[in-house]
Amino acid sequence: MSYEFLKTPIEYLKGVGPKRAALLRSELNISTFDDLLNYFPFRYVDRSTFSNINEIDNDQTYFQLKGKILQPQIVGAARAKRLTAYLKDDTGIIELVWFQGINWALEKIKADVEYIVFGKPNYFNGKFNLSHPEIEPVEDFDILSSQLRPFYPSTEKLKSKNLNSRGIAKLTKLLISQIETLPETLSPQVINRFKFVSRHTAIINIHYPENKELLNKATTRLKFEELFFIQLALLRYKYVRTIRLKGHVFKLVGDNFNTFYKRYLPFELTNAQKRVIKEIRADMGSGHQMNRLLQGDVGSGKTLVALMCMLIAIDNGFQASLMAPTEILAQQHFKTISDLLLGMDLKAKLLTGSTRKAERQEIHDGLESGVVNIIIGTHALIEDTVQFKNLGLVIIDEQHRFGVEQRARLWQKNEMPPHVLVMTATPIPRTLAMTVYGDLDYSVINELPPGRKPVQTYHYYDNKRLMLYGFLKRKIAEGQQIYVVYPLIKESENLDLADLMAGYESLSRTFPLPDYAISIVHGQMKTDEKDFEMQRFIKGETQIMVATTVIEVGVDIPNASVMVIENAERFGLSQLHQLRGRVGRGAQQSFCILMTSYKLTADGKKRIDTMVKTTDGFKIAEVDMKLRGPGDMHGTRQSGMLDLRLADIIRDEKMLRYARDLAAEILKSDPDLVKNNNHILKERLSQLKKHQKDWSLIS
Ligand code: ADP
Ligand code: MG
Repeated sequence: MSYEFLKTPIEYLKGVGPKRAALLRSELNISTFDDLLNYFPFRYVDRSTFSNINEIDNDQTYFQLKGKILQPQIVGAARAKRLTAYLKDDTGIIELVWFQGINWALEKIKADVEYIVFGKPNYFNGKFNLSHPEIEPVEDFDILSSQLRPFYPSTEKLKSKNLNSRGIAKLTKLLISQIETLPETLSPQVINRFKFVSRHTAIINIHYPENKELLNKATTRLKFEELFFIQLALLRYKYVRTIRLKGHVFKLVGDNFNTFYKRYLPFELTNAQKRVIKEIRADMGSGHQMNRLLQGDVGSGKTLVALMCMLIAIDNGFQASLMAPTEILAQQHFKTISDLLLGMDLKAKLLTGSTRKAERQEIHDGLESGVVNIIIGTHALIEDTVQFKNLGLVIIDEQHRFGVEQRARLWQKNEMPPHVLVMTATPIPRTLAMTVYGDLDYSVINELPPGRKPVQTYHYYDNKRLMLYGFLKRKIAEGQQIYVVYPLIKESENLDLADLMAGYESLSRTFPLPDYAISIVHGQMKTDEKDFEMQRFIKGETQIMVATTVIEVGVDIPNASVMVIENAERFGLSQLHQLRGRVGRGAQQSFCILMTSYKLTADGKKRIDTMVKTTDGFKIAEVDMKLRGPGDMHGTRQSGMLDLRLADIIRDEKMLRYARDLAAEILKSDPDLVKNNNHILKERLSQLKKHQKDWSLIS
């Protein structure tokens, strides 16, 4: 049996036709025979055993009963018309009822004949009944083929066209009956190594398990296959890029780097910073294009690493750019870097949406002629009008806000692509990174600069507000600054703004002029107004900054030591972690105060408790992933990589590692997948790739 057969459009399966085919496609993404075979049941019900009628209880499960039908009859009229009957066994009696397909059911059901009935009981008027049960005469019931019945996920629309779980099961059953042998997708070496069942056995048994053991074997093999081909695709993609895309060779560590290191570096680098700079340097000197992800918790000192890598690029005669997701962040990077470079003979410029026209032109010219060494900016950097003399390194800060496509556009700016370093302060668990960023190299700064005191975190309800204000007054008296953050969720923007303004007013009464001054920043302000307010806080002219999450990422004001988060239960964990990362940057003890309402959901409580308990970004990310599921993690949505049917990257972590190791091992000895029966893997990859366009977008 060939793969061609499996590509047959689903409408040609008997009982489908064009209308249901269109629905299957739009609802479940099933358009071919193969797609249907890969649409797996979400659970199985054991139909080899029977329950007694008196065992029925209210626990919402399915029961299989055996008994005699009594008194089938049509009752009610017009809309209330229905067919009722009773099923009786030795232990009791239960009502069966049909509201639709009455004539068909009446035809099928004969009084005094023994039937097998299967369904989920409802509790109604003090009694149980079964509506629209599956029903078969005992003599037609084939116990052998009925052990584990598949249940398929369906949708309301499909159900209205008779494609509920049972309807889908009919289709899979029919399709499977037409299949002789399914083509294998793994090489014999792989199958033997892990003692997998064949693909044929696996697919048949995932739909219609012969027994529990075979179901387990089928699931294991198919899960592995799912993870394995993703890893093979990612690693192969990485490999191909590595050989095809030559990169600039940065041989030197030269004057700029050394001068900076010896004379201008304000503190000793942490060991983690040193290690990461080494890793990046080796990558940029290797002759292939670097694509590296740099993870480091908030405050771990990524900016400095970025700067030192840019200096290496400059030492080798190239320009470097640093791109940030927001104007405020770009400005701040620009200020930090300009300050650090003070006294050195280098030109760094800032280019954002609000750069004035004349200056913009000058910067464009400077980039094209090469007099500008470092350009820092926002999305404005990837506009087509921006041309470089020789861009050698692109650093992207807080990557999740940049689309994959935007990154790709940057690469096109030169004949030879620049090295790319993606920095993120949203830690993601290793297993997730292996899947989502599986084709990128990976560096971690796992150490904070010395002398940092971990932020102390407290959770209070509104009844502690007076105490809180007293605490804030003491902190301000000590010369500290304070953030007060309010949530802002798009759908309820106006409500949120009202909250923020009310909070601002109440703070203004508690912290009145002239002794205190308050800055306010929110999303509906103009950029210059925002900047103005921000600057007042940065300069220390105001003691309190009331803001929405615009300050979430990156902002660095060491003198701010208290972060108050209002309605903290409305923030996600990674957001809370980011926000808390805004304090604890100076030498003084910092505090994070989570204010919540009394009503907390279980998840909300867990988030708050996690924040109080730990400051470790990776631990927080793991809890976050468990609470939300990997598909909802920051920045992973667009990837399509997590569209897993069977595997679960948390539960199946071990298997994921095996799959990745195996993929790496195979590619190492046979990168083009031509030897040792590996062509079968290559073929499968290209089948999957055609199907899942997203894969080519991962970069
Ligand atoms: P992030 O990784 O969150 O971007 P930053 O680069 O903003 O962190 O650095 C956080 C703070 O730590 C900054 O104020 C920076 O000057 C300081 N810093 C960075 N590296 C060191 C170091 N090795 N020793 C002491 N302070 C450092
Ligand atoms: Mg940063």
